[in-house]
Amino acid sequence: MALKVYINGKLYDKDEAKISVYDHGLLYGDGVFEGIRSYSGKVFRLREHLDRLWNSAKAIWLEIPMTKEEMAQAIHDTLSANGILDGYIRVVVTRGVGTLGLDPNRCSQPQVIIITDLIALYPEDYYRNGLEIITVSTTRNHPAALNPRIKSLNYLNNILAKIEGLQAGCIEALMLNHKGEVAECTGDNIFVVRQGRIATPPIDAGILEGITRDAVIGLARQSGIEVAEIPLTRHDVYIADECFLTGTAAEVIPVVKVDSRTIGDGRPGPITRDLMQQFHKLTRS
Ligand code: PMP
Repeated sequence: MALKVYINGKLYDKDEAKISVYDHGLLYGDGVFEGIRSYSGKVFRLREHLDRLWNSAKAIWLEIPMTKEEMAQAIHDTLSANGILDGYIRVVVTRGVGTLGLDPNRCSQPQVIIITDLIALYPEDYYRNGLEIITVSTTRNHPAALNPRIKSLNYLNNILAKIEGLQAGCIEALMLNHKGEVAECTGDNIFVVRQGRIATPPIDAGILEGITRDAVIGLARQSGIEVAEIPLTRHDVYIADECFLTGTAAEVIPVVKVDSRTIGDGRPGPITRDLMQQFHKLTRS
């Protein structure tokens, strides 16, 4: 049976799920989105994802043509139409069909798209042995130009960084902000551990306020581990005992090498491993 995709209140077979080439989501990346996980039929932190989607939309003057409750229902309906218990949910809201000009006022209704699919997980080896990442020259978007807190459909900044990373043989890449501080990776937030304490860049470093980031900060604090949201430099990463990334798809993933420097002893550290386990429990129990 073909996978069903939700578009504006109706379910379409994947091959029939189409939108106009005049949609400003396509023409200009004018829109917002969310990536969400479902574990055993339960959508993880749905309220937080919907709040972030609505905040992203508000920041770009986009009015989502339904309530959060209706969106939650539509997500559950799409998951159940596809019989997906463990999967990935992509919610996209575009500006809608417009003219070839930029003016969003000339666009019709915003379009709401919900795709639910099986999740392509990272290879187990990365979780067991850790990732190697590099810092790329593509600077994270300046918050005063396009705030990284907005999860917008224009991901070129991240894609350019991802290409640089891939060309260097790394599946994730570290981006610095306009001040040269550590910001985040192309699709994940970054944490370091030093002397038993955790540090991660603050939101005003120009990063996405990751839902997984928030969940992991909560888990660490509950375990009595101090978490500081403070500006970090590359130097702080190089001298860390441990480093890990967080994201909806990756969950918690250890990093053992950054810019060819070995982090700690080159193995996923004890605090990282503990948080990986705790996050696993949080999502699967
Ligand atoms: N930073 C960026 C740039 C992202 O795109 C994402 C989501 N893939 C994250 C961080 C992690 O956020 P979350 O934990 O909400 O998935």
